[in-house]
Order: sequence, then C-alpha cells, then structure tokens
Amino acid sequence: MKHLESLKKYADVIVQTGLNVQPGDIVNIVGEVEAIELMRLVNEKAYERGAKKVLVDIHDSKIFVDKMKYETAESLSEVPEYHKLRNQYLEDEKVSMLYIKSDSPELLKDIDADKVMKRQIALSEASKSLGLSRMRYNQNWLIIGYPSEDWAKLVFPELETSEAVEQLLDAILKTVRVDHEDPVASWTEHAKFLKDRAKWLSDYNFEKLVYTAPGTNLEIGLIDGSQWAGGGHVNKDGFDIQVNMPTEEVFNSPNYREVNGTVSNTLPLSVNGQIVDNFSLTFKDGVVVEYKAEKGYETLKNLLETDEGAKRLGEVALVPVDSPISNSGILFYNTLFDENASCHIAIGKAYPGPVPGASEMNEEQVDAVGLNQSLIHVDFMIGSKDLNIDGVTRDGQVIPVFRNGNWA
Ligand code: ZN
Ligand code: ZN
Repeated sequence: MKHLESLKKYADVIVQTGLNVQPGDIVNIVGEVEAIELMRLVNEKAYERGAKKVLVDIHDSKIFVDKMKYETAESLSEVPEYHKLRNQYLEDEKVSMLYIKSDSPELLKDIDADKVMKRQIALSEASKSLGLSRMRYNQNWLIIGYPSEDWAKLVFPELETSEAVEQLLDAILKTVRVDHEDPVASWTEHAKFLKDRAKWLSDYNFEKLVYTAPGTNLEIGLIDGSQWAGGGHVNKDGFDIQVNMPTEEVFNSPNYREVNGTVSNTLPLSVNGQIVDNFSLTFKDGVVVEYKAEKGYETLKNLLETDEGAKRLGEVALVPVDSPISNSGILFYNTLFDENASCHIAIGKAYPGPVPGASEMNEEQVDAVGLNQSLIHVDFMIGSKDLNIDGVTRDGQVIPVFRNGNWA
C-alpha cells in the first residue's frame, strides 16, 4: 500500500487536470482488471467532483487473448448491435472517456496479424462517429497508463515480477508529475511551457519541415495558417482538458499531399499487440510508395493497407531528446510513453484542431485543405540525438528548429 498516496494524487490529476470533470458529467472508465486500485480511486474522485454517473468497464487481457485465438476473423469482425447503441449513447451524452492502458505490448504476438487487423477495422468503423466527436473535443477523453505484470516484465526483464510492476508504476507516476509536491499545479506550468513552444512555431507559419538523420531524409508540408498545439486542449464547452498523460509534444496536422522522402523509426512500435521495428517508409507526393521492416513486416503491411489514408501522414509532433521520459532511459514499448520521449509522426487520420475552422468542415472540405482521413491513427517514433529539423518559411527562409535532437 505504499503507493496509495501516490495513486490518490494520480487520480487527482486524471480527474481534475485530464478529464476536468464538471458537475453533472457522465464519466466512462475503461481499463484492465490489473488497474482496479486506480479505477476505484478515479471512480470516487469523479463522484466527489460532481459526476452524475460513472460507468466502469473492466477488461482482462488473458480473456481477450483467448477470444482472439478461438474466434474466427468473421466472428471477430461482427460488431453487435448493442455495441453500436452504446457508442451512440457515449456520443449523444458527451461522456468523458478515460482509457487506462495496461496491456502487454506483445499481447497478440501469436495471433494472426490479418485477424487482428480485420477486427480493428470493424471496431473503428462502428465507432467512426464517436471518434470524430472525440477528435473535435465535443467530449472529453484521456489516455493514461498503469502497469500490468506482462507489460512490466517486458520493460524490466531482469527483475522479479512484483518488483518490475513496482518499478514501472514508479516510472509512470514520474512521467505524469505525481512525484511533484503539487501535481495539479505542475501540470498547469508544464502546459504553459508547451503552449509557448507551439506559439513560437505557429508564428513562423512554416511551409514545410525538413528532417535529416541517419536513415531519414524527409520533407513534410504544413497547411498555411495551421496552428501548432500542445499542453492540452479546450473542449467544446470551454474547459481545459488533457487527452494524453504524459504529454511532452507540440504537434500539427501536416498537408498530407506534400510529404516526400524516407523516414526510419528510432524506437520499436507496439501496435495492436504486435511489435514492429527497424522499419522505414518512403513517401512520394504524400503516399507511402515503399516500406521495409526487419521485425513485424506483416503487421506494418496490414496497417498500411487498412485504407487509402493509412499510407499517408496525419500528424507531425516535436519532442526533444532532452525530455523527462527520454532522460529516464526507459523504453516503455507503449506509444503513449515512447511518443512523448521522441519526435514522432503518425500515419492515418489527422486531427482537425490545428486548422482553424476544420472542425466544422465536411469530408470533402477537410480533404481539400490537406487533412488526411483514415480509420487508423498510428504514431511512431523518429527522434534521436542525430535528428536535425529545419523550418522553411513561406518566403523561403530556413530556420533551425531542432539540432541534435533538441530545440535549436
Ligand atoms: Zn503525437
Ligand atoms: Zn498521434
């Protein structure tokens, strides 16, 4: 129980800073059974803050693995009617969604990648409208982490299971500033730092960013007038929220048609319970025309073939190598953490937020402006101490943005 005080503080930042629960809100907590202690605390805090209702969905990864193992691809991609109704309810009632991620990064390593992808597509299709509502911040959502035994053992293979879980919990709590005296206040300060960085970038209104590093030579076009974001969002009701904890990034939605060159990953990517590593993508006029992977080639292939938008870029994010998560030296094998230790980009759907007015646009307008559409949004890490990034302004000036992995 030595963690109880820390977990209470974690629940505080989740409920206050992250979801910013207001009286009358409905909150949905989704997590693994291993996170039950945290779920109980969040549940209680949410009610204390005046939530009208808290709905808790508890999953178990071992039960899930058997589902994936024994069911056919056809059965797995059948989305029951009640599931669709539930998604509709979550959207209509603007339910605040908390996702607690504990699953092992290699959970589905023995399951056919094609089966995994078919199910993922079916679920994404059934929650398309809800996903859009979240991307527009019509409703609050937040992704956080909590250790499970399998995940902890992958991160700290040299430790006993219980020790590994403790270590991973400690590491997670540090990344979300729960080790600070007043975590909520430190989040406010941290958010301001990221917002200032975002403003610095937005003021240049770069036409493109040029990335150079070993295995990387990439140009990413940016949309005229787009605004870099970081340090949280303001939801449709005007409240400040965080959608990822931790967060160390400032990001933008690129002009998907203007991406050219090759990019190589620098940290392994765990996607749908499978690991992809030592991979590179080559873009021509915004589309991946060539790709390689030493590990998880099939998973990468399936991912890129999800739909047309899966071969195009949907996010560009900057994170210095000299940041708390990367300085911890821990490889989390979990994108929520690893993407906040490294510059990253995402294939798939672009957030409309950075482009003024885009939240109100229809699909054709969104496409015309250069925002990519897809059922997926998968971030992968490309930052390192060898990465340099230049910004090219609309009148051709070259401004150093990153040098040797850090802000120039
Ligand atoms: Zn990101
Ligand atoms: Zn992303």
